[in-house]
Amino acid sequence: MFLSFFEEKEHLRLQSFPLIPRGDPSLLLINSGMAPMKPWFTGEQEPPRKRVCTCQKCIRTNDIDNVGKTSRHGSYFEMLGNFSFGDYFKHDAIVWCWEFLTERVGLDPALLYPSVFHEDDQAFDIWANVVGIAPERISRLGRDDNFWDHGSGPCGPCSEVYFDRGEENGCGSPDCVPGCDCDRFVEIWNNVFTQFDNDGSGNYSELSQKNIDTGMGLERLACVCQGVGSMFEVDTVVSIIDKVSEISGVKYKQAAGSDVSIRVITDHIRAATMMICDGVLPSNEGRGYVLRRLLRRAARHGRLLGVTGVFLSDLCATVIEENKTAYPDLIDKAGFIARIIRIEEENFGKTVDAGMSILNGLIAEYGKRGETILAGTDAFKLYDTYGFPIDLTVEVLAENTMALDEEAFNGCMEQQRARARKAREALGDLAWAGIELGLDNTPTEFTGYEKEEDTGVVLAIVTHGETGSSISAGDEGIIVLDKTPFYAEMGGQSADIGVLACGEAVFIVTGVQLSKGDKYLHYGKMRTGTLSLYDPIDAKIDAGRRKAIKRAHSATHMLHEALRTVLGEHVRQAGSLVEPDKLRFDFTHFSALTRDELRDIEHQVNEAILDGADVSVCEMPVEEAKKLGATALFGEKYGDSVRVVQMGASIELCGGTHLDNTAKAGAFSIIAEFSVAFGVRRIEALTGLATLDALSSARNHLSILAGMLKVGAPEELVGKVEQNMQVLRNLRTQLDAAISKDADNEARQILTGAKDIGGLKVITTIVEDVNVDIEKLRQIEDTLRDWESGVVAVLAAVKGDKVTIMAACGKEAVTKGVKAGDLVRETSKLCGGSGGGKPDFAMGGGKDPGKLREALNAVDGYVREALGV
Ligand code: ATP
Ligand code: MG
Repeated sequence: MFLSFFEEKEHLRLQSFPLIPRGDPSLLLINSGMAPMKPWFTGEQEPPRKRVCTCQKCIRTNDIDNVGKTSRHGSYFEMLGNFSFGDYFKHDAIVWCWEFLTERVGLDPALLYPSVFHEDDQAFDIWANVVGIAPERISRLGRDDNFWDHGSGPCGPCSEVYFDRGEENGCGSPDCVPGCDCDRFVEIWNNVFTQFDNDGSGNYSELSQKNIDTGMGLERLACVCQGVGSMFEVDTVVSIIDKVSEISGVKYKQAAGSDVSIRVITDHIRAATMMICDGVLPSNEGRGYVLRRLLRRAARHGRLLGVTGVFLSDLCATVIEENKTAYPDLIDKAGFIARIIRIEEENFGKTVDAGMSILNGLIAEYGKRGETILAGTDAFKLYDTYGFPIDLTVEVLAENTMALDEEAFNGCMEQQRARARKAREALGDLAWAGIELGLDNTPTEFTGYEKEEDTGVVLAIVTHGETGSSISAGDEGIIVLDKTPFYAEMGGQSADIGVLACGEAVFIVTGVQLSKGDKYLHYGKMRTGTLSLYDPIDAKIDAGRRKAIKRAHSATHMLHEALRTVLGEHVRQAGSLVEPDKLRFDFTHFSALTRDELRDIEHQVNEAILDGADVSVCEMPVEEAKKLGATALFGEKYGDSVRVVQMGASIELCGGTHLDNTAKAGAFSIIAEFSVAFGVRRIEALTGLATLDALSSARNHLSILAGMLKVGAPEELVGKVEQNMQVLRNLRTQLDAAISKDADNEARQILTGAKDIGGLKVITTIVEDVNVDIEKLRQIEDTLRDWESGVVAVLAAVKGDKVTIMAACGKEAVTKGVKAGDLVRETSKLCGGSGGGKPDFAMGGGKDPGKLREALNAVDGYVREALGV
């Protein structure tokens, strides 16, 4: 009925999207009709039509604890929705919502109550004045209820419709109104007016297109239509309830406690069936864990009802039966779904059985000692190590007239949470936000000081934004090993790149980052094959690149030492970057380095290289290192034992990779020196092959220049260039004299055409010479002004469609109030341009040569006006 209604309103009906989101790492499972449509809302992708309607499968993990307790929450439900992408907005959405509920479904308007976001006067107005709801029946609710915002993506204010299930279902409180959490007023439909985009960090921007996103629980609507008390009693769900009663032999609506269990099982088996059908499998993380938790809770509630043995796999047949028309793939996958559920249930059964025997052992021991309170640590071990549910422990203890030291147990739980938190913090946020690698705190073993190739084992895989058990060809991701020869980006030194391989499976490492817990995160992409957890790995770095990095890093130490000898002991390292054969070193110093200083520094580094000193690396207590005179970074904290790198006179604390002999740095050259902050200078330099490449490219340029300047050898270049510059200088002088002479002649010529206006000599001339150069024009103006104190000369030249206008006014003219600046401004404007300047000289121009004559003709008028004649 819903989908047809909106089809009549020109909506395109789409199938439900699968429960697993596509390309949305911010979401574990689809939780609303709009969730799979985010790119259509943000405008990132084009929707198939501007109006769409769906009935969408949804999982809401954060409602799990409510399930069975309220009448209106399922972890699984279907959501009806109509959507507008930049098409209709609040007015139509509200009017159609009301039309559907009252006219199509036929609900009693007296039982329906709309709500709006308290600041949304527009929506209030539509409900009150267009739909005609009495204002006192419309509630204005706050941000919590009526502002729809889920992680990143489209969001906005909303307007809900509540159904009044009668006082008998209410909490009885005098302020029980729509929005109250009790079961009297049930929210059935929510109309979201998506106006904003949340970037995921709470920054909101207006969407260019305003959208409509509505959601109505199918079960909740059915519940109201069928006049039943809860979403579990609507026709398609109640048959599952009946089946649970049949299997357990416990009648529904006999006792509140067992009713909760029956409802939990009913909901969870629906959710699990639909999830498995969409491709989710039980596991210890992410979606898989949600599924595992649902199945275990269902199994657990089965035991509470007295069911022994597996039963959930039988129940899923009823779920499939009720849903197969809408979701025909349930039929194809029926056998598979039942098998997965059975395996999971059996495993859980084993856990429970193993836990039971340990617990029974404990109970016997305690009994012998005459104790009746189970220690928190014992209960915690059962829970943590064996996965035995704590409520089961409590129950079994009660049957044996024992109890649990709950306070101590909670203490253990809190400690474990703190440990987990610490481990999470330790892993840092270098991995994709929000992803826990699920590893302990052991650092990755780094073997790259000695090795360029090593073996390791895959401990964690992150791909598609979450941890997983494998990564396949084409996927980008992060791999964590137990040990690695890859250097992680650290202390200014760039990370290694290379490959991780296991047989045919090859992962290309493009970067390595260290998490706070010293896990090496290998970033990259799977080239071929598939890698899985615990696969043995051959890890191999790009050895040539590492060699070049070593050259640059050892040279950095030698540079540091040279700076201190040449400039003084005040030089302190302020930052550094070490790349293959390229380095950047920032240090404290207060003036620019002179050419001599730079040459001395470069020379000293090259000498240190040529000394061919052995580089020694050793670990020692920090105090001992200081006694040796090792240079430590100011303000840096070091552990008890430090790594000391010594080469020649340089002794530094450093974790980087180094040459074993300084000579291997090859050659060192400084390419730049400049200031990066007050009192901080930066040197950029090259080593090894990069220096040689720079040299050969410089030599190449010199020989090209020598060819162009026709000298035999590059040494002759300086002499030749000096010679050529002298020739150019002479030519310029001659040229200037010629121009000036030429200008004099022209000025004389121009002056003969001057008009007398009020005693001034007014000239308006277009200098026709096609090659006229601005400099010449200026010279003519200068000459005219020098010769004639009463001159007002407006000269123009045209080149292509570009007009240049200059004006000069002699002293007398200026005194009489004629200003060159004004003349140029006005004439330029007439030529479609602009200009201005001082009273005695100004310059401008335009783009319309056709108007030039007219513009110049206007000059006389301006002069007359200025003179008042
Ligand atoms: P409530 O406050 O009752 O939990 P909600 O504000 O979370 O509802 P929305 O997020 O606006 O609900 O979802 C739109 C519609 O989906 C609701 O009006 C309701 O009909 C339905 N719905 C939401 N959560 C559930 C659920 N857990 N089980 C069944 N239906 C639900
Ligand atoms: Mg909710």
